[in-house]
Amino acid sequence: MAYDKNNVFAKILRGEIPCKKVYEDEHALAFHDINPQAPVHVLVIPKGEYVSMMDFTAHAPAELVVGFLRAVGTVARQLELEKTGYRVLANAGANAHQEVPHLHIHIFGGRPLGPMLVRQH
Ligand code: AMP
Repeated sequence: MAYDKNNVFAKILRGEIPCKKVYEDEHALAFHDINPQAPVHVLVIPKGEYVSMMDFTAHAPAELVVGFLRAVGTVARQLELEKTGYRVLANAGANAHQEVPHLHIHIFGGRPLGPMLVRQH
């Protein structure tokens, strides 16, 4: 899938629309999800044009891959989630219901999060 430079997270990275910033370094930006699904719901995005985890790990420079993953850990620590636990999740493509086509890792926490997936009957 080609990268769409007009996706909402590209606009946030360019400073064209605001975000509630949690953390930023040269590789990553973290901000609160606009529609939180848990008491803590933060998104971490890499500074680069990557649609998904597969795109990112295949094409990003090694320094960015490491820097981005370190940033996810740093944010979880900064949010003090280590003791109570948390979940990280990255949706990719239609079956995963990815809405924004710029790689993002969700960090959820602040309450017991239940089973990993909602069971379908
Ligand atoms: P996904 O379904 O994994 O693509 O998740 C996209 C997430 O982006 C959803 O949880 C949305 O609530 C969130 N989102 C969409 N627009 C914004 C925005 N402007 N600022 C913060 N979060 C957003």
